[in-house]
Amino acid sequence: MSANAPGAAEQDTFRSTDPASGELVGVFPVQDAAAVEAAVARARVAAEAWAALGFGERRLRLAAYRGYLARRMNELADLVHRENGKPHDDAVLEITLAIDHLAWAGAHAARTLRLRRVAPGLLAANHAAYLEYQPLGVVGVIGPWNYPVFTPMGSIAYALAAGNAVVFKPSEHTPAVGAWLARAWQAAVPDCPDALQAVTGLGETGAALCRAGVDKVAFTGSAPTGRRVMAACAQTLTPVLMELGGKDAMIVDDDADVAAAANAAVWGAMSNAGQTCIGIERVYATSAVYDAFVREVTEQVAGLRPGSGPGAAYGPMTMASQTDVVRRHTDDALADGGTAALGGPVPGTQAHGNVIAPAVLLDVPESSAAVREETFGPTITITRVADAEEGLARANATSYGLAGSVFAGSRSRGLSLARRMRSGMTSVNSVLTFASVPALPFGGVGESGFGRIHGADGLKEFTRAKAVTRQRFPLPVDLMSFRRPASAAPALARVIGVVHGRHR
Ligand code: NAD
Repeated sequence: MSANAPGAAEQDTFRSTDPASGELVGVFPVQDAAAVEAAVARARVAAEAWAALGFGERRLRLAAYRGYLARRMNELADLVHRENGKPHDDAVLEITLAIDHLAWAGAHAARTLRLRRVAPGLLAANHAAYLEYQPLGVVGVIGPWNYPVFTPMGSIAYALAAGNAVVFKPSEHTPAVGAWLARAWQAAVPDCPDALQAVTGLGETGAALCRAGVDKVAFTGSAPTGRRVMAACAQTLTPVLMELGGKDAMIVDDDADVAAAANAAVWGAMSNAGQTCIGIERVYATSAVYDAFVREVTEQVAGLRPGSGPGAAYGPMTMASQTDVVRRHTDDALADGGTAALGGPVPGTQAHGNVIAPAVLLDVPESSAAVREETFGPTITITRVADAEEGLARANATSYGLAGSVFAGSRSRGLSLARRMRSGMTSVNSVLTFASVPALPFGGVGESGFGRIHGADGLKEFTRAKAVTRQRFPLPVDLMSFRRPASAAPALARVIGVVHGRHR
């Protein structure tokens, strides 16, 4: 029974609460393996009808869905604000990005995936060769809570546009948003309601989805859970897409616009209370700009007012337990010899508040948890480096590799540093911009995961490449036949010798 279907409440339930006030947002069923399998079975039927619609008809329905989201933007943003804690305006930004991706995926699926002819090559010159990208069937999407609309939609939009049905397991911290998104689909696309369903529950519901016979699991979350998802999916050789955490760095070069770099670093580190997988957690500033950069960042951060009321720069931590991680990293950084330009030891959390003051930590040793591990809080480390090359070496000395940023005056230098950054995405002279460019793929390397959402790569991620050849006319000599003459292979060797043998 999907989360949005009546009767599901007979099962165990769990509560979702507002992280700022502790008020109840909703009660949701903990869906067990049988319920998840039933949702996947319905999705399997829907997948056939959805795929059979073809690109044009699917595009119309994806447009109806984004139209529905756009018209109810404020209602959804309010729910995101209440359940995740982020400011309403940031929720609007998140939903806007998701809508833009829905539009791009719908508009580009046909040209990216449809049947096309490719060159058959020399050996099969008498054949026509065809390539197409076919839908996988049913995709299981397991999502996190930090961007409860944008992040899962990066998989959902592209999987649907490619012709798959989706069973979506939202985070147990944002089930109301997940259930809302599925209900919105059913309202906007009434002739294919089961193409997108939500199943709610805790980790075990996600684990059940991995075992439910889906054709791919698109997982977004932490690396430890990603390992468990991969292990479960290995049992059935179910392919996986892994969008995991990060420890993203910014490099500020000698000739950078320091004020712009500071502005971007503060937003990249502190917005959404630092709970951004592609957020900036470390900055490497060259000696030439370090003092000015620290001054500028400190000044800007001092003006931030976190909280849950109107005008708050960012909200409370969505998960109360995350405050302990942030505190540990901040404490370790100072114990290891770093200094706090602002913030320092995290002030005590309020009863239902979990609002963390921003912290700017200077010259924290690279061995410290605040530099090595994902903090996922409103903190930033700033480290002095001799030059941008040292900054790059330090930025790349991490097991993660999700994204990053480079600030440089020289266009070629900025691009060169960005291209050599070991990460899936890098913005030059801004932060996070790649996420708002639907044509660009999104995903990490190393412990940040593998596979891509967004863009043409994101569409292909939810397909299988299908190759077909069709003989147009027979050749006088068929090389792949027991009836070929004895002279065929030596003649072939001579031709290949002429064509390829000249290369040394
Ligand atoms: P998490 O790993 O705790 O949970 C993610 C999801 O997995 C939840 O829906 C959870 O219920 C489910 N889950 C838990 N145990 C499971 C299991 N055994 N099998 C299947 N599913 C299971 O992560 P989180 O705390 O929700 O999210 C924060 C993390 O997500 C951070 O590390 C962040 O960097 C990362 N993230 C990455 C991206 C990206 O695109 N790379 C985007 C957003 C967040």
